[in-house]
Amino acid sequence: MSINTNYMLALNNLTVSFDGFKAVDGLNLYVDKNEIRVIIGPNGAGKTTVLDLICGKTRASSGSIKFQNEEISQLNEPKIVHKGIGRKFQTPSIYEDLSVFENLELSFPRGRNVMGALFFKRDSEVMDRLHEVAESVFLTDCLDMQAALLSHGQKQWLEIGMLLIQDPKLLMLDEPVAGMSVSERVKTADMLNRITANRSVLVVEHDMNFVKDIAHKVTVLHQGKILAEGDMDSVQQDPKVIEVYLGH
Ligand code: ADP
Ligand code: MG
Repeated sequence: MSINTNYMLALNNLTVSFDGFKAVDGLNLYVDKNEIRVIIGPNGAGKTTVLDLICGKTRASSGSIKFQNEEISQLNEPKIVHKGIGRKFQTPSIYEDLSVFENLELSFPRGRNVMGALFFKRDSEVMDRLHEVAESVFLTDCLDMQAALLSHGQKQWLEIGMLLIQDPKLLMLDEPVAGMSVSERVKTADMLNRITANRSVLVVEHDMNFVKDIAHKVTVLHQGKILAEGDMDSVQQDPKVIEVYLGH
């Protein structure tokens, strides 16, 4: 077997068991540079667990996780973030009392720790990056607003912005459009399509219209294993996928 070492992310035979139950079972998954990959599948399929394994929140029982050809399955969460992997959880973790601007500023790599934040200087490089990111997540007009006052969708965008500030090479989003209005979903799809240059995006999502708008390739997970993989059309027409997921 020839191994393509140009993958952004390569999962080989990745398995995790919780008390003998294999939530992820011998998974092989390869994400290219500049690719938007979407993982779909029924509840309990192991989708969130895959993201947990990649970001170091859960430790694999066996198998390998290679990021830019480097084994990361033994690294802790901060080291994995530092390597260039950003992950958004289902519930946004923003600072509600701070402004949108301050939320973005705190996420800038140099502002990460207490000392960094104390001596933080609003130099032009930081300001440019901040405004660039604010624009890409549709929050330019809300920079001075307290984050608590944002709509649900805007909070999701702010959190994506907080990840983008760190310029991750791999961005992982777990159900990013859950609870969003139709127009917010369309805007989120546009955003993801624009921010993919020079990075890869791994998304877990149920909304098939949204998936259609963003996915370069779809992986269908079922009982911790891949049930089908390919472009949206082939996956949607796959009788196995219709039976366990799309038919419901
Ligand atoms: P999905 O995101 O596809 O809905 P999950 O990855 O959240 O599924 O969960 C897959 C399975 O693994 C579920 O049966 C869930 O209960 C189980 N699971 C996930 N995380 C843990 C954990 N930390 N400990 C025990 N069981 C877990
Ligand atoms: Mg989940």
